[in-house]
Amino acid sequence: MNNNKPHTAYFCMEYGLDEKMRIYAGGLGILAGDILKAAKEFSYPVTGIGLLWRKGYSKQIINEKGRPESKHPTNKEIYEYAEDTGKYVIVNIKKQEVKLKIWKLDKFDNATLYLLDANLPENEKYQTITDGLYDGFNEKRIAQEIALGIGGVKAIRKLGLNIDIFHFNEGHAALAGTELIREKMENGLDFHSAWDNVKEDIVFTTHTPVKEGNESHSLDSLKKMNAFNSLTRKQMQEIGDSPFSMTVAGLRLSRISNGVAKLHGQTSREMWKNVAGKSPIISITNGVHRSTWVDDRIVANKGNKEAIIETKVKMKKELVEFIKNRNGAKLDPNKLIIGFARRATAYKRPNLIFKKPEIIDPYLKSGEIQLVFSGKAHPTDDNGKGIVANLVKKAKEFPNSVVFLEDYNMEIARYLTRGVDIWLNNPRKPLEASGTSGMKAAMNGGLNLSILDGWWVEGCEHGINGWQFGDGYVGEGQDENDLYALYRVLFNDVLPTFYNNQDRWEDMMIESIDTTYQRFSAKKMLERYYTEMYNK
Ligand SMILES: *Cc1c(COP(=O)(O)O)cnc(C)c1O
Repeated sequence: MNNNKPHTAYFCMEYGLDEKMRIYAGGLGILAGDILKAAKEFSYPVTGIGLLWRKGYSKQIINEKGRPESKHPTNKEIYEYAEDTGKYVIVNIKKQEVKLKIWKLDKFDNATLYLLDANLPENEKYQTITDGLYDGFNEKRIAQEIALGIGGVKAIRKLGLNIDIFHFNEGHAALAGTELIREKMENGLDFHSAWDNVKEDIVFTTHTPVKEGNESHSLDSLKKMNAFNSLTRKQMQEIGDSPFSMTVAGLRLSRISNGVAKLHGQTSREMWKNVAGKSPIISITNGVHRSTWVDDRIVANKGNKEAIIETKVKMKKELVEFIKNRNGAKLDPNKLIIGFARRATAYKRPNLIFKKPEIIDPYLKSGEIQLVFSGKAHPTDDNGKGIVANLVKKAKEFPNSVVFLEDYNMEIARYLTRGVDIWLNNPRKPLEASGTSGMKAAMNGGLNLSILDGWWVEGCEHGINGWQFGDGYVGEGQDENDLYALYRVLFNDVLPTFYNNQDRWEDMMIESIDTTYQRFSAKKMLERYYTEMYNK
C-alpha cells in the first residue's frame, strides 16, 4: 500500500470483476471493477464496498417467440470466490435489526472488495434484500441502499479500516452520508457542523443524464424504512429535498463531484444548476482496465504494425467462431463486422440502422454489412424488451449477417470488442454519459463509428482513428437526421475504406490503438481521481 495517498472507500451497488462473479449489470459495475483492478495493479489504496448479490442481475433468455425473458437463477459460484471474514454488522430496517455478513473478495487481481450479505435465516423477510441486483423498487430498494450505505460505513468501522475518503459512486450509496453525520453527532457535534465536517471526506460521481436514472424516494417511505438513521425529517430534506433525490443528496453531501466525461460534466452542471449547496461538478473521463480489455497480443506487438494486423485478423476469426458455437450463425471473416452491444433502451436506439430497410437491407442480403448485437433490457422495461425482440426478428430475417447474442456479459463483451471491425454507437445525444465499450474496441483496433457523445467527443479524430456522424445536432427531427448521417458515413467512408482501401483501414486501426491506449485507461482515470478529487 502506498501510505502517502489517501485511503479511499469506494461504494458501488455493483462490481463487474469477472464473468464468474455475476454481481454486476452493466457499465457502472464494469467501471467499478476496472477501478479496483487498476488500484491493485498500480498500488492505489482503494477498498471497495458493495453487496453480495446471491442471484446477481437478471439472466436473459430469448424464448421460442423471440421475446427476451428475465431469469433469476442463484449464482452459487460467488460463495466460492468470496471469503468469509466472520464479521457482521447490524442495520435497522423498518422496525427490524438486520444482520449483514461481511465477505471479502480479492481473487480477481482486484483491490480488496468487501461485500455485505443479508442472506441469513434470522433476517426473515429481509433475507432476500441482497438477492437480485436492481430487483427492488421503493421499499426494497431503500432497504438495499440502507445495507450498502449505512451498512457499508458500519462495516468499515467493524473491520477497523482507516478511511480518508468516502467515494459514493452513483447516488445509491448516499445514505452512507447519514451514518457519517450520525457518528459525528454522537460525538457531540450539531447537525450542520457534523455535515460540514464529513463533507470534507466525501466525493461523489454522478453517472446518468437520463432523468429516470436519478432515483428519488418520498421522505415518508424513507422514514418508514428507518433510512433517516436518527436524523430528522427537516435534516433529511435539507440533504436531499422532498422527494429525496439520491443524486441531489450525493451532490450536497460531498466536497467535490464529477461527471464521467467532459461533455457529461457539462451536461450535469446544467442539469443540477438549481441545486443549492451542491459541490462543484468536474469531469473525469472514464477509462478501462487494459489487462482485462485489451488483448495481450495487441499489447505485446505495439509498434509492430504487421503483427497488430495479423492479431486483429485472428481476433476477428475467434469472434466468428465464438458466434458460431453460441448460436449457429456463420459470419464471413472477410466481410465487415459491426458490433453494437449495450443496454436495450430507447435512447440508445439499437434499431436505428434498420429504420430505412430499402436502404440497408440490400447490404445485409449481400453480407457486405454484418451486424452483431447484444444487450439486455431492464427486467421491467417492456419497451426495451420490444427492442430486443425486434433485433431477434432481424436476425431471423438475415441469419448469416445479423446476429443477436443473448445474455450480454463480460465474456461476450471481450470477444466482441476484440473482434469487430466497427463499434457502432448511436445514442440520442446528450444522453450517453461516457460509454466504455467503445474504448475497449478502439484499443483492440476496432474503429468507432459513433455519435459525438460521451467519451467520443474527446476521442474522435474523424477519418483518422474512426468516424463521427450527426455533427452533434440536437433538436427536432434528430432521429432522422442521425439516421441519414449514419448512412452517409457508412456508405461513403466506412465501406469504401474497408473494401477498397485496406492500407488506409490498417492505418486507422493503428491510430485507433495509439490515440486511446494511454488516454482512456483506468490507470489514467484513477490518477485523476487521486489528484483532482481525493486530495484535499
Ligand atoms: C464495457 C461493458 C459495458 C459498458 O458499456 P457501455 O455501454 O459502452 O457503457 C457494459 N457491459 C459490459 C458487459 C461491458 O463489458
